[in-house]
Amino acid sequence: MTIIRHLTILGSTGSVGVSTLDVVARHPNRFHVAALTANNNIEKMLEQCRLFCPRYAVMLDADSAEKLRIKICATGINTEVLCGIESLEKVASLPEVDIVMAAIVGAAGIRPTFAAALSGKHVLLANKETLVMAGHIFMDIVKKHHATLLPIDSEHNAIFQTLPRDFTGNYAAVGVRRILLTASGGPFRQTSLAEMEHVTPEQACAHPNWVMGQKISVDSATMMNKGLEIIEAHWLFDAAPEQIQVVIHPQSIIHSMVEYVDGSVLAQLSNPDMRTPIAHVLAYPERIECGVTPLDIFKVAQLDFETPNFSKFPCLKLAYNALAAGGSAPAILNAANEVAVESFLKSRIAFTTIPTMIEQVMQTVNHKDIFSLDDVLAADSMARKAAYEWLGTKNTNSRK
Ligand code: NAD
Ligand code: MG
Repeated sequence: MTIIRHLTILGSTGSVGVSTLDVVARHPNRFHVAALTANNNIEKMLEQCRLFCPRYAVMLDADSAEKLRIKICATGINTEVLCGIESLEKVASLPEVDIVMAAIVGAAGIRPTFAAALSGKHVLLANKETLVMAGHIFMDIVKKHHATLLPIDSEHNAIFQTLPRDFTGNYAAVGVRRILLTASGGPFRQTSLAEMEHVTPEQACAHPNWVMGQKISVDSATMMNKGLEIIEAHWLFDAAPEQIQVVIHPQSIIHSMVEYVDGSVLAQLSNPDMRTPIAHVLAYPERIECGVTPLDIFKVAQLDFETPNFSKFPCLKLAYNALAAGGSAPAILNAANEVAVESFLKSRIAFTTIPTMIEQVMQTVNHKDIFSLDDVLAADSMARKAAYEWLGTKNTNSRK
């Protein structure tokens, strides 16, 4: 008999959240939704509450929560509406919840993701920013509180699937030589630097293979997403930076590979659909159907590989530098990137100014050792302040 597992989905109205509910809906005898959370998308949350009847729905924003509460009352759904960051932490640590899907975008996800780890949950980690900002602190908490950390990011999920099952970080013991972290190269892989200067937010968000939220789409276009994923892989798999090779693979069919000392290279392949890694970790170690179109390798026919272009995509180097600097440097990188991406999306800076801005913020804010989540959050707000000050000095009312 299958035991029902109770689930909180942080960021249920987003791209990963919606894909998660799509998988969950296919297995009503396996999963029960205990709580859903969102920033301010009332209509989507109402629709999800109608379909899944969670015990709690949390909106970060108090106004949105009030509006949702009125609508929920009118429909007679038995869902309690809460608001604020403390409520996000509460539903991430409910005693009846087994699994927490951490799918809030950006630094906003860090506190509830920590709450889930602190209460020993199965944490399905999409919110890579948590590991980027607070890698060793988060990993220590996972260990100390006996939480189980399972990667949702397609590359990290592929690495997890191709490493030995009992892998503990000892590469020599299991004969692993290195990780090959694949990247599609994003929408501007073949665009010249001069043309990249003038690309619009719409062009940057039009990823060739994946449909995702705006922030990660822009990160994919600058390749900062791969930079963040290098840091994520470092913490998840205890990999030294030189053990992580970025491979441009434009088709996004191989989601990453692991190279062994005997010359074997194991890869995980699937159509680019987040429901595959989501289903893998939701049911882990079992396998469940999730609606993904089976991979037709004859139709794919060709798989290409290239080395990354660091001069066209300086964000990659910035991420390697932040990882090498350690301490609060990755949190500063992340915060500067979030402000830069938001500014680009509002057409305040050019696409090619994103790395410039991040680099200059990293030079302005001194990085230091971090010992707690509070240290991480302090570094995050200092970097945001510096990023907004930098923007102010540039007098950027429109894209240059
Ligand atoms: P999205 O923008 O589509 O959704 C984000 C979700 O977070 C929404 O439900 C939104 O309401 C909520 N949210 C936003 N700001 C919030 C805040 N301040 N407080 C509380 N909730 C807030 O994002 P996404 O594309 O689903 O990405 C989510 C995370 O998963 C990101 O960390 C991203 O890097 C990671 N990820 C996404 C994909 C993908 O295919 N979309 C793939 C790999 C990893
Ligand atoms: Mg990824």
